Amino acid sequence: MTSNDQYTFQNPVTRYPSISPPKQDQPEPGLDRDLEPQTDRGEASYRGTGRLTGRKALITGADSGIGAAVAIAFAREGADVALSYLPAEEPDAQKIAALIRDAGQKAAALPGDISAASAARELVANAVEQLGGLDIIVNNAGRQIAVDQLEDLGDEQFEDTFKTNVFAMFWITKAALPHLAPGATIINTTSVQAYNPSPTLIDYAATKAAINNFTKGLAQQLAPRGIRVNAVAPGPIWTPLQVSDGQPKEALPTFGKDTPLGRAGQPTELAPAFVFLASPESSYVSGETLNVNGGTPTP
Ligand code: NAD
Ligand code: MG
Repeated sequence: MTSNDQYTFQNPVTRYPSISPPKQDQPEPGLDRDLEPQTDRGEASYRGTGRLTGRKALITGADSGIGAAVAIAFAREGADVALSYLPAEEPDAQKIAALIRDAGQKAAALPGDISAASAARELVANAVEQLGGLDIIVNNAGRQIAVDQLEDLGDEQFEDTFKTNVFAMFWITKAALPHLAPGATIINTTSVQAYNPSPTLIDYAATKAAINNFTKGLAQQLAPRGIRVNAVAPGPIWTPLQVSDGQPKEALPTFGKDTPLGRAGQPTELAPAFVFLASPESSYVSGETLNVNGGTPTP
């Protein structure tokens, strides 16, 4: 770990360079391994302080990007982690699993396609079995494919985006609930797109608005049971999602430059928000959406 950890006093404008990623394309879902430039998921910098000691977490989309940064942070804060990802992402997932083990925690690697209800339920059962229980659920997996015109947005894509981003969250949360004791937390990854939809992301942005709404409703329902439900809404973060058709290619070189901080975020900059919402220090916070977006105003 470097001395440049998340507690180091520094200028947020220059903490990371304002990157201009070259045009590039990866088949869906994309690999962190092949991204140019590489991202920072906190491998060398995230410093844990025991805030999740003894917790057991399931994180979807934990192989890469934001989910990987959250997995590294949770492990360094003392949690065992079950990682959900697609089978094609095995190289990314194994790298993150190794970092979790380096932190002295258990890593359960659970590949599968959660856009099918049976696989989503099986994921929860396997996580419970391998970790011996669950008390943090992070619904972070997401699918984002940019399409210019509604006429070109296929029924299949529309359905796949909703199944991955919304239905899977429902299936996984429902299957996990019987295992969650008071004190457990659920965190869903939404997006600035929930309030500021891009014209090329009609299906995706609508799922993110649904996730925000689902979070606020469920938070009220589960509050009397001592289970908190919150969301994190990232702005433009440099991850494989963006190069596997998540953005029009011509948008990549300026990705994130229009935020008040003037640069795209790095995945590790999301991790402290998830740690806060997962840990007991946020005991009076539920139904909240924590925006981590470089300063873009939100409703
Ligand atoms: P990412 O590509 O690293 O992560 C997305 C992950 O979703 C993939 O790694 C994959 O494992 C998982 N996934 C997708 N379809 C799946 C399926 N059918 N079954 C199982 N897993 C599946 O990209 P990311 O940017 O870190 O995305 C994480 C979350 O952050 C997503 O919900 C995304 O919508 C959200 N988000 C990202 C940004 C951004 O700018 N990168 C901004 C706002 C919100
Ligand atoms: Mg991935």
